[in-house]
Amino acid sequence: METIEGVMDMQQVAEDYRLKGKSIGLVPTMGALHEGHRSLIRRCRAESDVVIMSLFVNPAQFHRRDDLERYPRDLEGDSRMACTAGVDIIFAPTAAGVYPDGYRTYVTVDQLTDRWEGASRPGHFRGVATVCTKLFTICRPHRAYFGQKDYQQSLVVRRLVADLNLGLEIVVLPTVREPDGLAMSSRNVLLGPEARRQARVLSQALFQALEAVRSGERDAGLLAAGIEAHIRVVPLAVVDYVGVCNPETLEPLHEIAGKAVAVVAASFGSTRLIDNMILEP
Ligand code: AMP
Repeated sequence: METIEGVMDMQQVAEDYRLKGKSIGLVPTMGALHEGHRSLIRRCRAESDVVIMSLFVNPAQFHRRDDLERYPRDLEGDSRMACTAGVDIIFAPTAAGVYPDGYRTYVTVDQLTDRWEGASRPGHFRGVATVCTKLFTICRPHRAYFGQKDYQQSLVVRRLVADLNLGLEIVVLPTVREPDGLAMSSRNVLLGPEARRQARVLSQALFQALEAVRSGERDAGLLAAGIEAHIRVVPLAVVDYVGVCNPETLEPLHEIAGKAVAVVAASFGSTRLIDNMILEP
């Protein structure tokens, strides 16, 4: 496994692999790797000749400075995990390498980014869309792997790849969870023991909504209210949003007729978590 820091170096290496006819898979991450990341790497390894994992805590997608500063970092542990998981190249650029002096170009995806994470974190998806576009043009992947855990992000990335004719396939893989159901996240290490215990209500509320849909509940408003009530039972939870919405547009639904997605965000103490669940009758 090699680690590449330089943007031009990475682009050259990727171009050389392409010229040799090798298929390139990219797993974009912000590091502090866990089993969720590992599942993306595993699938990428199975489907690609060359596995690139980018590791970049992208300042452009953090709208709060304290969140950026608090974000967990563990380059040594990440390198070990990436190596055992089968990564060929870690691309770990610096912020100045990605956004050099004079940088002025940003990618925005309309409508899809208006609600939920987009509304709660102004500028977040502009940062995500910009860095993903750059990672795609630097690493030149045939496929890039994302987690359903960040559901809205996966829609935004699919949209920009289609709209800008970037010519790669986006693969979205299921959310990997802890034994108690909590979605794995780099931010989970920031939870204190009591917040960690209480945080399992997020997934419990979503699984309960799924059960309700399977038992015949079709009223999306009632489902969203049920999820919110379930989360509010624990004292540390501060709900940011709960939505039961169209899985393509993320517009809130009145009624469950086909596939829907429930999206939630809540803070437990000072740590904000998100989760989601596909609801299918
Ligand atoms: P991050 O490092 O948090 O930016 O995440 C990098 C990629 O891993 C994103 O595509 C995430 O959606 C994905 N990911 C994060 N957590 C999980 C999880 N628990 N299960 C599956 N994928 C995940």
